[in-house]
Amino acid sequence: MRFECVRKFGYISYCEFTEKGALPEVLKNLGVEPLEDEFSFAFMKGVCKKKKTAIKNLIMDNKIVTGIGNIYSAESLFIANVNPLKRANELSDLEIKNIVVCVKKVLSNSISDGKKHCEGKELPDGSEWKYPVDFNVYGRAGEKCQKCSALIAKVKIGGRSCFFCPGCQV
Ligand SMILES: [Zn+2]
Repeated sequence: MRFECVRKFGYISYCEFTEKGALPEVLKNLGVEPLEDEFSFAFMKGVCKKKKTAIKNLIMDNKIVTGIGNIYSAESLFIANVNPLKRANELSDLEIKNIVVCVKKVLSNSISDGKKHCEGKELPDGSEWKYPVDFNVYGRAGEKCQKCSALIAKVKIGGRSCFFCPGCQV
């Protein structure tokens, strides 16, 4: 057996199942899958109205919705025209709708684009993977926004770097 996690976020855990069909402890508190129908406007509206946290932190919280990391939260919020620092409970219905649509769009596009997160890593055939540099905001602090020419900003929230366009994401 070989387990290789190029970004070192994964792990293998030994689990005991107390009953047939039970989930391992580590998976019990996971939120909804972003590409499933359960990640909907109605679901997100219900979550957002109760949370004062920054929307970026909220969509990166695996207890609410799974698998949206730093890159894809930044890109989704850019396409949705939502400031990542905005409090979840202050979002309009339109902003929440846009976030749901854009998260699904960005994740789907990224899956079809391939392994963007494996930059610089060795592929099974020995060649080095490089992702096409097509991010709108992620990793582009100080560069011009391709939509409005404002300079891409970088701040820290929740201990993570947060990239956004102060022109598009007000
Ligand atoms: Zn912009």
